[in-house]
Amino acid sequence: MTATSPRPVRVRFAPSPTGSLHIGGLRTALYNWLFARHHDGVFVLRIEDTDQKRYDPQALRVLMESLRWAGLDWDEGPEVGGGYGPYVQSERLGLYQRWANWLVENGHAYPAYETPEELEQMRKEQEAGGGKRGYNRAHRDLMPDQRAAFEAEGRPKVIRLKMPLEGEMLVQDAIQGEVRFDYGVLQDMVLLKADGFPTYHLAHVVDDHFMAISHVIRAVEWLSSLPVHWQLWQAFGWEIPTYAHVPVMLNPNGKGKMSKRNPPRDAHGNIIPVLVHDYIAAGYLSEAAFNFLANNSWNFGDDQEVYTPQEAVARFDLTGINPTNAALQIDKLDWYNGVYIRRLDPLDLARRLRPFLESAGYEVNVDLLSALAPLLQPRLKRLSAEEVMAYAGFLFAEDFPPPPREVLLKGFKGDAATAGTALRSAGEALAGLAAFDAAQIEGVLRAAAEALGMKPKEFFSLLRNALTGQEVTPPLFDTLPLIGRDESLRRLAEAAAALAG
Ligand code: GLU
Repeated sequence: MTATSPRPVRVRFAPSPTGSLHIGGLRTALYNWLFARHHDGVFVLRIEDTDQKRYDPQALRVLMESLRWAGLDWDEGPEVGGGYGPYVQSERLGLYQRWANWLVENGHAYPAYETPEELEQMRKEQEAGGGKRGYNRAHRDLMPDQRAAFEAEGRPKVIRLKMPLEGEMLVQDAIQGEVRFDYGVLQDMVLLKADGFPTYHLAHVVDDHFMAISHVIRAVEWLSSLPVHWQLWQAFGWEIPTYAHVPVMLNPNGKGKMSKRNPPRDAHGNIIPVLVHDYIAAGYLSEAAFNFLANNSWNFGDDQEVYTPQEAVARFDLTGINPTNAALQIDKLDWYNGVYIRRLDPLDLARRLRPFLESAGYEVNVDLLSALAPLLQPRLKRLSAEEVMAYAGFLFAEDFPPPPREVLLKGFKGDAATAGTALRSAGEALAGLAAFDAAQIEGVLRAAAEALGMKPKEFFSLLRNALTGQEVTPPLFDTLPLIGRDESLRRLAEAAAALAG
């Protein structure tokens, strides 16, 4: 089968609910979604929960939240149903058992009865002997009476795939190109475990067949097991879907896959999120994440980096995915985030900022916030509590206390008495203004700086410290009218008093 296969396009994202979704997993889902939408096909969400030891009951909810956050809606799967369900593997156990038995009956697989102790013993001997590792195929050709004896003993059994002992296979991967494997180095993998649960190898082939999947777009980590899957497809005699192995997202330094156990750090030593829900919490816009992930290994063309999901859908093609593993460039994501924050309607931005202020216990004056939003828009990098509070908190604080001395004097070269005098002159200049607007405020403050013989920059930063307690804020002259004249004068006077004390 090739990408030009006439089959109707049906793809699936098949996460294992073992924890929160990895950012690389979201990118795999995104490529599946783009492919399905481009071909007017179907995007299936299938839950691969056959590893009972690693099952996390919270995972499914978080996973669906993460997909929906990114705008990746599924046409079939949990919560939406569909004609090929159930879409949760633990609800399909009978099917896997039936087909595992079919493989045994048709000579493609066999039961193996080794106990865990025997397998451990075999492993130790291999280690000591330095020979070939892995299952030694001891039960591949058991005589019927030996099998019957093991059965009679009541030994637990697994079912293993009979791999060809030699030869090679050649596959055309839609992203990786031609891949070749030597059968001789491969093992007889377990298909069905002693507890009756299938392994990934068996379950995904059975499901992809019965769910009529046309293209398997999955992480490149699975490429090395492809011969096992290929062998299974051939044994069943089913139509093989096109395989497309998506490159891995590497740490920002280009070394190793991003892992939540050992999270990468940025140039300032801050942790770079690995899980989608941490990106959400860090204040990334879903629009930015979508564009960033699409662009991480896929090329839109025309040197265009900013595009909407609809534009991406129109152009998406598996051959546009670069097979080389790509490092996550967090600066690039920050850049995208800024682009999308600036594209928001200011009222929409205000709406998104409000919950942060409210959770910090502030009563939000909506008009004030709407007036502030356009000032913040060019400056905000992320919509996180930390950033929103830093830029906007000072405006909503009910009793804004004078900032501590060291904050007031930050960046000020003179002594506290000089600073106090400067703050008082600013207050006097502002008190006499006819209209409290940005242009007039700037005029009188520049004049005041000159009269004091101070550099405007130093004077303004002193005022900013006193009025906001923050080093970086929206422009001072625009901010003052939002704080209001009376409140500004109060803050300046209190700060001057604090410096005198
Ligand atoms: N459950 C597998 C995983 O989470 C799915 C791989 C696939 O897409 O087939 O890695």
